[in-house]
Amino acid sequence: MSAPEIHQQLFRSLPSVDRLLRASDLQALISTYGQKVVKSAAQDILSRLRQDIRSGEGKVTSELTRGDLLPALCQQIEQSVLLDQRQTLVPVINLTGTVIHTNLGRARLPEAAIKAVESVARLACNLEYDLDAGQRGDRDSHVERLITELTGAEAVTVVNNNAAAVLLVLNTLAPGREVIISRGELVEIGGSFRIPDIMRSANSILREVGTTNRTHLSDYAGAVCDATGLLMQVHTSNYEIRGFTSSVSQSDLFQLAKDHGLPLAVDLGSGSLMDLRKLGLPHEMTVRETLAAGADLVTFSGDKLLGGPQAGLIAGRRDLVKRIKANPLKRALRVDKLTLAALGETLALYRDPDRIASHLPILRALTRHADDIAAAGQRLLPQFQNKLADIADVSLAECKSQIGSGSLPLDLLPSTALAIRPRAAKGQTDELLQRLALAFRRLPTPVVGRLNDGCLLFDLRCLDDEDTLLNQLSALTL
Ligand SMILES: *Cc1c(COP(=O)(O)O)cnc(C)c1O
Repeated sequence: MSAPEIHQQLFRSLPSVDRLLRASDLQALISTYGQKVVKSAAQDILSRLRQDIRSGEGKVTSELTRGDLLPALCQQIEQSVLLDQRQTLVPVINLTGTVIHTNLGRARLPEAAIKAVESVARLACNLEYDLDAGQRGDRDSHVERLITELTGAEAVTVVNNNAAAVLLVLNTLAPGREVIISRGELVEIGGSFRIPDIMRSANSILREVGTTNRTHLSDYAGAVCDATGLLMQVHTSNYEIRGFTSSVSQSDLFQLAKDHGLPLAVDLGSGSLMDLRKLGLPHEMTVRETLAAGADLVTFSGDKLLGGPQAGLIAGRRDLVKRIKANPLKRALRVDKLTLAALGETLALYRDPDRIASHLPILRALTRHADDIAAAGQRLLPQFQNKLADIADVSLAECKSQIGSGSLPLDLLPSTALAIRPRAAKGQTDELLQRLALAFRRLPTPVVGRLNDGCLLFDLRCLDDEDTLLNQLSALTL
């Protein structure tokens, strides 16, 4: 047979799209994903095959002449559809050693919050409806009672995240006016949140006082003028200035603000709702302490140390919160019913301080005992050694976990990691290391660790489902 004749024969042997869609092998796929999706995958695969025939690809030719073409095509179509339907946002196993990891979605929600999200997602709910009065209600009301109880604030409002909270406070209390802030507090928090930029976006005028390491009350006092709209303090979440330093206490600043009739806003960042020392963790200024020290408003995140959903909370004086809620920007920054449902249940857990550390995943991970993590390491080690025997040495290594997301930046928690050190010829270690890390990230539930000193480290602090990790080890392909 001449080449054109072979081509002709091969083309003829290809089934039509219609015949493929009638194949019994594809019926389950069609009933799950629909005719349109499967048809489009079938068309793609057939047209690729035709192209391969034209370009004379040997592999295709032999496949086509074997006679079991239909099942083979159905299988390809199925794979293609499944791949295409897969969501890109998926759960991962965070073994980076950073507990509140912004890139990995920060806090994992407590079970009660997850259930609450599910129920308001499924049915209509009284998001902005007062059931007693039978008329329009206020969405903030669902969390206001709990937040005021837990923080001593008079009132609260909830927005999309803490960056939005700061923006809204500035834009409401100091539009076109000066905001006095210490130079040492002009922080950048992960990429896109910089205090000077937020000020500009809020249409406020930055009036920085003092120096990077030292700011005195007289610096603030000297800057107050007719144009001043607000005094602001920002928690320097992700760094600490040490050595010859001086900053002004909140109570001094409060007194100054009060003397001049100006409001004082404190951006706490993480904003813990309880004294973390009770859990053996380093102290982080709580929202209650900050308000008690004289802050008029406090802003903080819902998904950092608080351990709930992404949200920004503005708590403090009732008259100021009322003005903030009346700002049209609030409408653009408000949260939805899913967030409020999760936040409400998360906050409710704080009413029981004795059990919070076991019920709130973020605090469970942060307070997990080093011995308990080491024991997990002992359980996992043999299976990792076994799986990676040909290419790497696996051992247990002591390491330090970080709290993350700018909370308590300098405090590290003792932990244990699986340390995977590839055995490769000199100069090739790095490549093998990268490949190994990628292979773990490509598992059905991706596993994310960190690279350190020629090792892939899996810090086990945040691992509480060892089975999911172990059961997929067999699927690891390098
Ligand atoms: C994290 C942080 C923010 C930003 O909070 P998001 O919830 O990420 O928007 C703002 N200020 C401080 C001090 C922070 O630590």
